[in-house]
Amino acid sequence: MPDHQRGAQAEESSYEVAQQQFNIVADLLELAPDVREVLRYPKRELIVHFPVKMDDGTVKMFTGFRVQHNIARGPAKGGVRYHPDVTLEEVKALAMWMTWKCAVVGIPYGGAKGGVICDPKKMSVGEIERLTRRYTSEIALLIGPESDIPAPDLNTSAREMGWMMDTYSMQKGYSVPAVVTGKPLSIGGSEGRREATGRGVTFAIQEAARHLNMDLLDSKIVVQGIGNVGGAAADLLSRTGAKIVGLSDSKAGVFNSKGLNVAEILRYKNENGTLQGFPEADAVTNAELLELPCDILVPAAIQSQITGENAPCIKTKVVAEGANGPTTPQADDVLNDRGIFLIPDILANAGGVTVSYFEWVQDLQSLFWSEEEINARLEKIMTKAFRDVYNTARERKLDMRSAANVLAVSRVVQAFRDRGIYP
Ligand code: NAD
Repeated sequence: MPDHQRGAQAEESSYEVAQQQFNIVADLLELAPDVREVLRYPKRELIVHFPVKMDDGTVKMFTGFRVQHNIARGPAKGGVRYHPDVTLEEVKALAMWMTWKCAVVGIPYGGAKGGVICDPKKMSVGEIERLTRRYTSEIALLIGPESDIPAPDLNTSAREMGWMMDTYSMQKGYSVPAVVTGKPLSIGGSEGRREATGRGVTFAIQEAARHLNMDLLDSKIVVQGIGNVGGAAADLLSRTGAKIVGLSDSKAGVFNSKGLNVAEILRYKNENGTLQGFPEADAVTNAELLELPCDILVPAAIQSQITGENAPCIKTKVVAEGANGPTTPQADDVLNDRGIFLIPDILANAGGVTVSYFEWVQDLQSLFWSEEEINARLEKIMTKAFRDVYNTARERKLDMRSAANVLAVSRVVQAFRDRGIYP
């Protein structure tokens, strides 16, 4: 087992973490037992098993999930991930976090998530397309522009969203662009969506730096993961003049205390499929990368990377969670005790769902905005959300994660109370 997963294995699953975090907030908000029960469990959990024709002529069965956690504040919203280890429990946790994430940035959605157990790195484009189309068809009873709107997540991108949009539209008999977000621009995608999560992480870091009196031009930044989130965040942060000193993908990491040329590294990764062998930098493992001395650490790969085991060795002032659930509760305690400032995932990486919301709004009205307008609106929402969480933390004397959760859960509770219980 790789080093970076050993600590995570000894600790809780994402679902247990989500539940623990919810318990803490429910206690802080003194939620009544019945409200806790409503918010604790997903509203709907769909498991689908479906066949896909492989290139060699065989037929392989795949398992997929779609979970809607809560829809009190609006339609369910959440990405779809393709990964060999994805489980229903993980998808349930991610759906719950989506409910809180949409609430913390104040966009009118509930939370959902989807996943398919598969290894797209070992599949051809044709196999991935057939899997995507069949999965879409299997979950079509839940998704729709007014009910549940998927988006990209781990190992899915605009390409898969195009296939999902087309499959759903074929079943309806007319084009339904608003059924998914993160689509290609040619079919109703939004300007700025591809780098929206990374841009949101950047806005959150800039706002944190303002509050902490840090000069980003003097800061050293380490980013774990150079996919959609980490790659865009590293690129945008380096363009603001900050020094990116460490970067990694799933197989390898690179380090240069004088600063890395991010554009060059992204090009190298694009051409070679890996960071392995990149010249002009020292090679580090993912475990070593997380412990590099820096001012800002951005875990933007997968969950449970900062654990009770490695948290005492992390040498940063700020952790900005680009990924969902990269820090375990044990690690949270250690980071808090050590005075490390945390920008929690539901705040830091909410830029993606925020621009997804813009995309959906544009699709519904068939009126499209410029990239400048998108970025300006995103900055406004991210900055306000950061200040709301920061002020909640100060007023209630809470750490930033608890403050974000308190703010988010109280907004969902308000919506639940205002709607009442049917019938
Ligand atoms: P991605 O597939 O584009 O990139 C993931 C990156 O992490 C890649 O560089 C990959 O090599 C690396 N990685 C994978 N496994 C790793 C491991 N075991 N150790 C170290 N690195 C590893 O995915 P993404 O869309 O950038 O998503 C990354 C994280 O951000 C996920 O937790 C996702 O849920 C979260 N997130 C994504 C979005 C979005 O808009 N894409 C929005 C919010 C949150």
